[in-house]
Amino acid sequence: MAEAKRIEGAPIAERLVARVAEGVAELKRTRGVTPGLAVVLVGEDPASQIYVASKGEQSRAIGMHSVTIRLPAETTEAALLAEVAALNADPAIHGILVQFPVPAHIDQLTIQDATHPDKDVDGLNVINIGRLAAGQHGLFPCTPVGCMVLIEEALGGELRGKRAVVVGRSNLVGKPIAQLLLRADCTVTICHSKTVDLPQVTRQADILVAAVGQVEMIRGDWIKPGAVVIDVGIHRILSRMPKARAAGKMVVVGDVAFREAVQVAGAITPVPRGVGPMTVACLLANTLTAAERLSA
Ligand code: NDP
Repeated sequence: MAEAKRIEGAPIAERLVARVAEGVAELKRTRGVTPGLAVVLVGEDPASQIYVASKGEQSRAIGMHSVTIRLPAETTEAALLAEVAALNADPAIHGILVQFPVPAHIDQLTIQDATHPDKDVDGLNVINIGRLAAGQHGLFPCTPVGCMVLIEEALGGELRGKRAVVVGRSNLVGKPIAQLLLRADCTVTICHSKTVDLPQVTRQADILVAAVGQVEMIRGDWIKPGAVVIDVGIHRILSRMPKARAAGKMVVVGDVAFREAVQVAGAITPVPRGVGPMTVACLLANTLTAAERLSA
């Protein structure tokens, strides 16, 4: 059997960002509105600093108004809530993203629910979770929305009636992907750590989404021949090649054992460069959507 088609995220994300840039220009021209994205970072987590810088740069590059607020790690929950309230009230800001994780003394759920639902470009506010479940317009989490773009691309938009299995039920990834697949008329099964005989369930999937957070857990013989496999997992691990390992070389792998899966699947996202590039592209798309709705 031929190897699976690789679903490369970068060119798909680039096309999406180009469409968002056109939307930004259009909104400026027709309504005099510049979409504004505020990203709030509490503390100095190195990975979060890189993500926040990238979000700022990419939003500026397509003509958005971009604000980055850096707060010290000892910022109180009340002070962060005050920042969020100020951004909620700021007419120049249409999208607000507080970079998670926040320090342990701040309750993440409280912050998510304090963000105005119509500016909640992370899609984590309970109102947007409800809108997603109810089939209404809202702002939905960026990585799941990005996965849907990749699935639609792989299947040429033909999702109706497909059997979809999502491994993982987090609020950030697994549950919203399952809801989006349901909205696209798939028959959806959600699996988790208590699922009995997981391989038997995943083998039924026409669309298999792995959002499990376990290094290469999904093996080749867990996959239905020809299935579309979306690997959301990201893990930095020590290389398994003896020389590289001895030199301490790190590699990035996913939740799916790629080399096995690529022999069975019909289409598969690589890790890295699969789902990853879609997340920021979808954040920009959500910011444009928020600006369009708020200025309508
Ligand atoms: P969580 O740890 O929050 O959730 C993992 C889910 O997998 C849980 O529902 C858990 O079940 C389930 N699970 C864990 N172990 C098993 C197992 N052995 N068998 C079956 N189910 C299991 O992770 P996230 O959803 O936040 O992230 C998932 C992955 O996606 C991670 O690798 C993360 O790094 C990556 N990620 C990638 C992003 C991107 O931009 N590409 C963005 C966000 C995340 P239970 O609920 O029963 O505990």
